[in-house]
Amino acid sequence: MSEATQQPETAIPQERLVVTEIPGPRSKEIHARRTRVVPPGVHSVLPVYIDRAHDSILVDVDGNRIIDVCGGIGVTTIGHTDDAVVAAATDQLNRVTHTLFTMTPYEPYVQVAEYLAKHVPGSSEDAPYKTLLMNSGAEAVENGVKIARKYTGRPGVAVLEHGYHGRTMLTSSMNHKGAPYALGYGPRVGDIYRAPNSYPLHDGLTGAEAAARTIAHLEKTAGAADLACLVVEPIQGEGGFIVPADGYLPALAEWCRENGIVFIADEVQAGMARSGAVFSIERFGVQPDIVLSAKGIAGGLPLAGITGRAEIMDKSLPGGLGGTFGGNPVSCAAAVAVFEQIEKNNLLAEAKRIESVFGDGLRALQEKHPAIAEVRGRGAMLAIELTKPGTLEADPELVDRVIAEAAQRGVLLLSTGIYNQGIRFLPSLKMSDALIGDVIAVLDEALTAAGS
Ligand SMILES: *Cc1c(COP(=O)(O)O)cnc(C)c1O
Repeated sequence: MSEATQQPETAIPQERLVVTEIPGPRSKEIHARRTRVVPPGVHSVLPVYIDRAHDSILVDVDGNRIIDVCGGIGVTTIGHTDDAVVAAATDQLNRVTHTLFTMTPYEPYVQVAEYLAKHVPGSSEDAPYKTLLMNSGAEAVENGVKIARKYTGRPGVAVLEHGYHGRTMLTSSMNHKGAPYALGYGPRVGDIYRAPNSYPLHDGLTGAEAAARTIAHLEKTAGAADLACLVVEPIQGEGGFIVPADGYLPALAEWCRENGIVFIADEVQAGMARSGAVFSIERFGVQPDIVLSAKGIAGGLPLAGITGRAEIMDKSLPGGLGGTFGGNPVSCAAAVAVFEQIEKNNLLAEAKRIESVFGDGLRALQEKHPAIAEVRGRGAMLAIELTKPGTLEADPELVDRVIAEAAQRGVLLLSTGIYNQGIRFLPSLKMSDALIGDVIAVLDEALTAAGS
């Protein structure tokens, strides 16, 4: 792992340490204040208040060192407070923090666009890609849809079951899950068509069969000629880290091409090197028309990219795209450092190391714990699905108990799936084999303590 393992003496030890109950007394004190001034709609999975963090370790206000296997949901992909990211962002903070790119531009925005274009599978001089930068994943989705509508002149937006795209008005209408994301916030946005996905553990279909089902559904409900775009997560994130069957995504992309529908890969969670390719769609052999980035792009600073074929991106009128903070210079400088770290430290190979080391650990647990129905994922985006033994019925209470037991032991885990049927793992690409071993040992204990 080269430079990454050599940390300054002041760095946080990459080891778990539990010194109080979790949450500890100081966290509880802050939490009591929080409940008076922050509404419950802004929910925290584990109300442990964090003081500092480095690479895979969170240090809370009570001095506990917690192993972070979520990375703020796939954001700190190259680790918390990566030295190069901190240095680049600090330097940029001292130069200029804001001009508004649409007033007077700056180079880091252009550098980020160059990096994103370079990594789209299939991009070349003859197939150029261009990028608009915004602030959040939901904004990336919103703009992807806008751009596809402008290009096609059509209204329809196709999405998949188990999908998740954000919490703005448009994106909350695109999510599979009504509660809590859309319930009561209506009217929901129209012209959105949701089709069955590929979920091999449950549907038993081949990629070709699942794609035929998706396409037939969309042709019946929407009509291909009314569709501007199909928005798909190559690996569904909130929906359960669902990896589609082989051939599913290529068949959908082919159908989109034949019907003039813009194929949008929502890589907000799966992208930015986590899967073992900069864009996970590469691992499925598909060239997207538009690819969306956010979460992991800037090492924890807010930034989102909408990267698309030039002919699609060029349709919008000057001024039609953008926003005050979109492509903030500090976020852009951080993103450039993230790309440099991915290349310099060969982090795509690290993602594949994690796929094998973490994956082997999970498969060993599966032998011991019959509740683990499946281990799945790509790279450092892995999950287990927990079911009632001998069935494919979700066991959401078991999922919650396992996560609570792990938290008590200083390991931060997160559930996934519209039925709360799984536990997802989004470790830093620099997490050592030793630390992965500790996470697996804690998970083993937590599964046992939760009664699996
Ligand atoms: C998180 C997520 C979003 C929304 O991103 P925000 O930054 O929270 O707005 C969109 N799509 C996918 C796939 C996501 O995982």
